[in-house]
Amino acid sequence: MLLTDIGANLTHASFREDLDAVVARARAAGVAQIVVTGTTVEESRRAAEIAERFGLYSTAGVHPHHARECGPRTVADLHEIARHPRVVAIGECGLDFNRNYSPHPDQEKWFVAQLELGMELDKPLFLHSRDAHPRFAEIVKSHRPTRAVAHCFTGEREELMAYLELGLYIGITGWICDERRGKHLLALVREIPPERLLLETDAPYLTPRDMRPQPKARRNEPAFLPHILHTVARALGRPAEEVAALTTRNAATFFSLHESGSSAAAQRPLAA
Ligand SMILES: [Zn+2]
Repeated sequence: MLLTDIGANLTHASFREDLDAVVARARAAGVAQIVVTGTTVEESRRAAEIAERFGLYSTAGVHPHHARECGPRTVADLHEIARHPRVVAIGECGLDFNRNYSPHPDQEKWFVAQLELGMELDKPLFLHSRDAHPRFAEIVKSHRPTRAVAHCFTGEREELMAYLELGLYIGITGWICDERRGKHLLALVREIPPERLLLETDAPYLTPRDMRPQPKARRNEPAFLPHILHTVARALGRPAEEVAALTTRNAATFFSLHESGSSAAAQRPLAA
């Protein structure tokens, strides 16, 4: 069983000490590929370095939390980072009206700038939307990216339907394992067309709440993706192997992970 974690924040400080072991555990758990999320210009550079070092992939983008830090060089910097062969998407970018760490006009401006960059470079978009429906959908609709994923989908049915209508892929995290706030996803996941379903941990965040024992310091990591897979498979009433194969195929299609070098790179010894 081979899985792809389409979103892991491996540049996060909590992975600094033991990243080799984290990647090794992921591979031992069947997580053959990881797309390392870029959340600022600097983190996107580091994400590409990590991707290169471990034979993984990464994204280049600025999270809406950091929109207020963007400036005249941001798009050119992301453009430059995106030229790296292991950078397979633009993002994460989008809107977050939950925490509101950046003013809404800044969030919208830099979301649009990254949508345009992704389309210019013909790269898929890794999108974040939290409590930002329907504004998020309006902006996506006015740009119509050819390939985009609503990563870490946590919304309600109406939001899901709007995203599917826009042609978005849907990323499911361990939120679905949360009996307090993720229960609705167990039913909603059945409404996602099989070819649009993707799996992710969003590590180190969103540790599945029903994992026993809970990991040390509650840090989530890509090795826990099979736990999410099994929850999704149960919700769908399908064998886990089938959902694994399906979502891995979807990730390969979405990020165009077909180049000949990728499997060789994935076999590369872990030590740099
Ligand atoms: Zn996000």
